Amino acid sequence: MGLLAVGTPLEWPEAKKVAGHVREWGIEQLLAIWRRAKGKERDALLWGDEIEYLVVCYDDEHRKVRLSLRQMDILDALASDQDLLKAGGGVPDVQRGAPKEGDTAPVFHAEFGRFMLEATPGKPWGIGFKDLLDVEPNMKLRRKIAKEHMADTEFPITLTTFPRLGQKDCTDPAYPVSGPKLRSQFLPDEIANPHVRFPTLAANIRWRRGRKVELNVPVFRDEKTPWPFKDPTVNYDLHNWPEDDDVRNGAAKENCIYMDAMAFGMGSCCLQITFQAKNIEEGRKMYDQLSPLGPILLALTAATPVYKGFLADTDVRWNQISRAVDDRTPEELGEQPLKNDRWRIPKSRYASNSTYISRDPRLRKEYLDPDLVVDEKLKQRLLDGGMDDLLATHFAHLFIRDPIVVFSEDLKELDLDKVDHFENLQSTNWQHMRFKPPPPGNNTGWRVEFRPMEIQITDFENAAFSIFIVLITRAILSFDLNFYIPIPRVTENMETAHARDAVLNSKFYFRKNPFPERPERPTSNSSASGTSTPSPISRPDTPLGPVEDEYELMTVNEIINGSASGFPGLIPLVESYLNSMNVDVETRCELATYLDLIRKRADGTLWSGAKWMRHFVRNHQEYKQDSVVTEGIEFDIVRAAERIAREEGRDGFGFEMLGHKR
Ligand code: ADP
Ligand code: MG
Ligand code: MG
Ligand code: MG
Repeated sequence: MGLLAVGTPLEWPEAKKVAGHVREWGIEQLLAIWRRAKGKERDALLWGDEIEYLVVCYDDEHRKVRLSLRQMDILDALASDQDLLKAGGGVPDVQRGAPKEGDTAPVFHAEFGRFMLEATPGKPWGIGFKDLLDVEPNMKLRRKIAKEHMADTEFPITLTTFPRLGQKDCTDPAYPVSGPKLRSQFLPDEIANPHVRFPTLAANIRWRRGRKVELNVPVFRDEKTPWPFKDPTVNYDLHNWPEDDDVRNGAAKENCIYMDAMAFGMGSCCLQITFQAKNIEEGRKMYDQLSPLGPILLALTAATPVYKGFLADTDVRWNQISRAVDDRTPEELGEQPLKNDRWRIPKSRYASNSTYISRDPRLRKEYLDPDLVVDEKLKQRLLDGGMDDLLATHFAHLFIRDPIVVFSEDLKELDLDKVDHFENLQSTNWQHMRFKPPPPGNNTGWRVEFRPMEIQITDFENAAFSIFIVLITRAILSFDLNFYIPIPRVTENMETAHARDAVLNSKFYFRKNPFPERPERPTSNSSASGTSTPSPISRPDTPLGPVEDEYELMTVNEIINGSASGFPGLIPLVESYLNSMNVDVETRCELATYLDLIRKRADGTLWSGAKWMRHFVRNHQEYKQDSVVTEGIEFDIVRAAERIAREEGRDGFGFEMLGHKR
């Protein structure tokens, strides 16, 4: 979450009237940034991670845990800590961060949920291998500092979702449900960050959609789960708001856990990594090459098997966030013929990427989606402004959406030194990669953000996934690796990643040969299907084989550790990269412990957080094989997660199964 604008937000009918205006100004601001920054060169490959926490509050006497809604008090405590202030001289209040002495001083931010905190390192990590070894201690420091500014009963925990969010009595303090902004049956409006942007975002998404957001997660069918399953928490008798009719009109689906508010998705915690590229072209390449890795890393980091007090039949959060902010109208969804809206739109504004952007000669047009929806008029404006087709297409696709939160103060004049209108659209297009142009007025370069990963219970795991993504990115650049597959296959993979234990049992489309030039192997059994098709780089004139021959279905284990059919594996690629660099033995050994986690997660030796939590629930003495996660089970899960993260009870089962540093 970036800086928060302040002002008077427009209600949806007013915001809708000025949407075209905001988009046009956003595009002008984009052109201005792009013109200023397209030649920008930065030699350091900086990067940074973001860790999100739930703040929980224990009631030991009743074996009950709730979400603490004291986010602002905690951030205030961090921001007014004299020691922290001394070191950093303060930060703008809107960012609500806390500086701290030393270079790795963390910064804390607010997030959508009033029960969430986000922490980033105080400054980005550098290119050195030694920096990678500081990541885990820094993550631990962040957790410790966060805890020190909380009440005795409060703790920061890194579960993606609060297991019983939406059940009665899940927040502290408690508030009545069914407020005017969310109109949720299950959650109070106070669940969201009180900054005016957030309730407005939630309300305007609902308003634009014409009904509440709708999240139906298939329930996990256990031996005694009533079947067909009808979510017993749904209230069909509410009559406070017109939206209360949603459930009577069939919003709650059979055999699903039903949720009805933005906080059920945007209240999930994730692990994000941002890289600075040396220039725009390198950034575009990183964006494209990391894109096919997104679903694989989603499956590997799976940590979300419980919703609203029920075991789910899925392991990850992604689609729930997608639905929680899906502002598409019935016309855009294809439920009604197009009359007032401009397009049918196949995906939510929170979704996997829909296009590639690199001017890489290996990007075949067959990889692109021929049906990609773009705003042709805005695209033409970008082209007229000098931008190339691929990049213009990317932004003209993001700009098919309406701005959701518009502040009336911002509509007075167009300021080309600002990026507010551009960011309005950019930051509410939540794709699994984000291409971030340099912000005006400082020396930051072009950045690419990798966004699909789920937060992990321990900082060891969070550091391992961060380090792995950094190293694979370096390997991509160093070896000029090629992971292109058709972008609709990446979208399919994202769905695949949701399945229970997808990390072990599912197969994902993945490119067979990641190397830039394919050695020609004219052996007798090289068929017309073209396994020896030369790449366009080595033989630009040779016709290419069918795209379908370039990829196949692989397990996560094959993708990570290598396959018998010849895919080298991402970990071996990282290792070759490390071998090609001058890494001292000690650092190399330490890095190996992190890479080992990834390797073992992929081959099943270690468990995903989702598997661990599902196992925890199913083996709990209170569990009745009916998919229900009781208050007592929740209490024990949260306690266990918190203790494992603090490395208490090092011999514990979670510690063993999730992986740890020897
Ligand atoms: P957002 O929420 O918009 O994604 P944040 O500011 O929360 O952004 O986090 C961005 C991450 O990028 C942080 O880890 C930060 O340390 C890192 N970062 C900051 N500046 C740079 C830079 N120039 N290059 C790469 N990473 C950076
Ligand atoms: Mg965040
Ligand atoms: Mg952030
Ligand atoms: Mg981010």
